[in-house]
Amino acid sequence: MNPPNSSRTSAGAPDGVRRLRFDVAARPFLVLFELTRACDLACAHCRADAHAGADPGELSTGEVLGVLDDLASLGAPRPIVVLTGGDPLQREDLDQLVAHGARGGLTIAVSPAGTPRATAERLAGLRRAGASTVSLSLDGASAERHDAFRRVPGSFAWTVDACRAARAVGLRLQVNTTVSHETVLELPALSHLVDELGANLWSCFFLVPVGRGRALSPLSAGETEDALRFLASLARHVPLKTTEAPHYRRLVAAEPPPGRGPAPGPLAGALEERFEALAARSWTAPRHARRPPLAVGDGQGVVFVSHRGDVSPSGFLPLVVGNVRQQPLTSIYATAPLLSALRDPTRLAGRCGRCAQRDTCGGSRAQAFARTGDVLAEDPSCGFEPAVATAGPSAAMPPATLQPVAPSGRAARER
Ligand code: SF4
Repeated sequence: MNPPNSSRTSAGAPDGVRRLRFDVAARPFLVLFELTRACDLACAHCRADAHAGADPGELSTGEVLGVLDDLASLGAPRPIVVLTGGDPLQREDLDQLVAHGARGGLTIAVSPAGTPRATAERLAGLRRAGASTVSLSLDGASAERHDAFRRVPGSFAWTVDACRAARAVGLRLQVNTTVSHETVLELPALSHLVDELGANLWSCFFLVPVGRGRALSPLSAGETEDALRFLASLARHVPLKTTEAPHYRRLVAAEPPPGRGPAPGPLAGALEERFEALAARSWTAPRHARRPPLAVGDGQGVVFVSHRGDVSPSGFLPLVVGNVRQQPLTSIYATAPLLSALRDPTRLAGRCGRCAQRDTCGGSRAQAFARTGDVLAEDPSCGFEPAVATAGPSAAMPPATLQPVAPSGRAARER
């Protein structure tokens, strides 16, 4: 949810990434705020383990307003706050929350589920309340593929209608796509659909095998490289970013780090073939300069708040570092030992610890934790073999201090 030309970021860095203009250790850039787990869809792979009714323990209106006030008190540049779920449209106080956050100077985005609740009227109300952006999920480029993935007939049509309505009422649009074995061959057709819908940003989320996401099949490191190369080839036509695949930054860096990535595999050819089959389609948007990726990550500018107030580095990294019912979010973010460790690239182990890209990539900490149980391990979803050894992990913090302060009641979260 990164507005282009944001005053929060600097562009044109020699290593090809945008950096925040402020100290990422002092304040978050992006707060993913799960308002509820209630959702009419309850997709089989949902990170949030969403269900039909609201959890009686979810944060009250007053508690959510308190978190927004705390974030607003940081002053400019204030964080971007994504109100997510479950389906945030299930909260009757949503417009009030959006209006309050916007009045406080926060950039407010809303991530509704693609259901009949996401009407043009409802989206217009969010716009009037002060929301800047909506993000909606499309995991297939046709009703057949998307509905099969979501296992909810009609969800493709509802989502596409909501995308068009969002643009019509003046909201910025972000389209989110889960990238896994089940969806990856949809990327060529989805790129054209995202373009046709006039999306401002396409966020390709590389599946983290946690929670209900274990029902899906994540790409191997070699397949991830093939998919990232394909996305990089599209980036002058479609503004895109990756989520939980920060090694995309290595592939688009002006000067790639020394080392060796995986050779192209069968997926590279399959994606190319599918894309060429669509060659008759032309792009709607003019070709543009590729937008440099932003050097943020789980706990490094990004933080997640659950519907019960638990704070984690991201929705996919189920390590709880505090709760907003006991401590202000801004204080948790600045002081939690786990978050401090995630901001220190010298703590990374394995290939990520040796990689010249560790300061601007550092691997997905959620992928590392989900696949190895060690949040500071090398990212197994990256197949890069660094050629140059840099300093290894620091011994300043013993591993025991990296454990969560309280266990999460949920196995996993997804943003
Ligand atoms: S080895 Fe780690 S730091 Fe280097 S590109 Fe891969 S994920 Fe990033």
